[in-house]
Amino acid sequence: AVVTRFAPSPTGFLHIGGARTALFNWLYARGRGGKFLLRIEDTDRARSTPEATAAILSGLTWLGLDWDGEAVSQFEQAPRHAEVALEMLARGHAYKCFATQDEIEAFREAARAEGRSTLYQSPWRDADPATHPDLPHVIRLKAPRDGETVIEDAVQGRVVFRNDQLDDMVCLRSDGTPTYMLAVVVDDHDMGVTHVIRGDDHLNNAARQTQVYQAMGWDVPRFAHIPLIHGEDGKKLSKRHGALGVEDYQKMGYPAAAIRNYLARLGWSHGDDEFFSDAQAVEWFDLGGIGKAPARLDLKKLDHLTAQHFTAMDEGAALQELEAYLAATEAAPLTSRQREGVARAMGPLKEKARNFSQILERAHFVLTERPISPDEKAEKSLDAVSRRILGELTPHLQNASWERERLEAIVSDVAATHGLGLGKIAPSLRAALAGRAVSPSVFDMMLVLGRDETLARLSDAAA
Ligand code: GLU
Repeated sequence: AVVTRFAPSPTGFLHIGGARTALFNWLYARGRGGKFLLRIEDTDRARSTPEATAAILSGLTWLGLDWDGEAVSQFEQAPRHAEVALEMLARGHAYKCFATQDEIEAFREAARAEGRSTLYQSPWRDADPATHPDLPHVIRLKAPRDGETVIEDAVQGRVVFRNDQLDDMVCLRSDGTPTYMLAVVVDDHDMGVTHVIRGDDHLNNAARQTQVYQAMGWDVPRFAHIPLIHGEDGKKLSKRHGALGVEDYQKMGYPAAAIRNYLARLGWSHGDDEFFSDAQAVEWFDLGGIGKAPARLDLKKLDHLTAQHFTAMDEGAALQELEAYLAATEAAPLTSRQREGVARAMGPLKEKARNFSQILERAHFVLTERPISPDEKAEKSLDAVSRRILGELTPHLQNASWERERLEAIVSDVAATHGLGLGKIAPSLRAALAGRAVSPSVFDMMLVLGRDETLARLSDAAA
């Protein structure tokens, strides 16, 4: 069975690159009836914070990337990491190294002077344990000196590292704490991880990690190192590129489904498909579709996908996510009357919307109450002629059947008696019903508001 994992270091928010890594692992597992695990790599005590962990969990939750079981704390596994280091020692795959920092530096200087490789070669590698001093030491992996370490990477292909270019990495520090490189391997093994999908900045680590797997006689997982994400200018992603945290995208009002779709397309493709559902992504995702070139952020594409996702979205789900958006932006929650109004209007509100803030703007006509106070722009369309026409509409609407075609016909007919088209009269109707220039179509609003409320708003404006 497939087991993937996302292994963020809790040193900051969940950035867009991390979110994509998580999404790829999630898609791969969910499409194969596998498990998607979460491990918080909090071994760096100085840089790891509980706030960052919380931000990562809430980012993943917002994105809908649910993980199986409890999140694992890497730091809490430290005793197990030490145990494995000692096991490698007992099996002769690791050794105690008593070299001091000064000795290591002296080795490097001499090597530099003689034009040899500066990779440290410890004299303790083959020392007889009987000669060991009773002094602080690290435990180093007894890595192979000859031959090659080969990664068969699902994205990068076959990547070959010469063993004489990899030194004997430290597994356990002199204070008994494990190094990150050991911890990752032990945790992935213990968690039963079968596929490691992560940024290609970890490709070199994969070589050393493979050596640990081999020393322990463990199965090496399938690696897939994905190219990093670049900005729209083709440069490595940085603060200059604007919003990088997943929560920024939530606060900008993007729905999670659109972000998922967008992130899936950052570096992965399925033919020409751009817009797709979660179910399709889960079905289609595979490692073969991941490109070798860095993906580029493209916010225009995100906006385009967003409009399609809003249109396709279930109305109840849209309302729920709108309320989460309000909470995330610390805006006032909807009253029950407002919620009821938004629920009735959601169809036209979300049609081709670009974000939740636009939906709220459009929703003004159900969020507000009579008397409607038109803003400056709306006020301008309520001139004397328009007000008269609004008044004339009332008797016609009083007994009309309340359906779109009928309403359209009535408004057109009345406008025509003044030699006006629908387009000329729509702004004043909009001003009367919404008090804003931005809203759903006037007929959508009339249908949502119903006869009594519509007539009341028209007569307020006509007066
Ligand atoms: N903690 C590492 C990072 O955040 C990920 C390590 C891994 O996926 O193996 O970059």
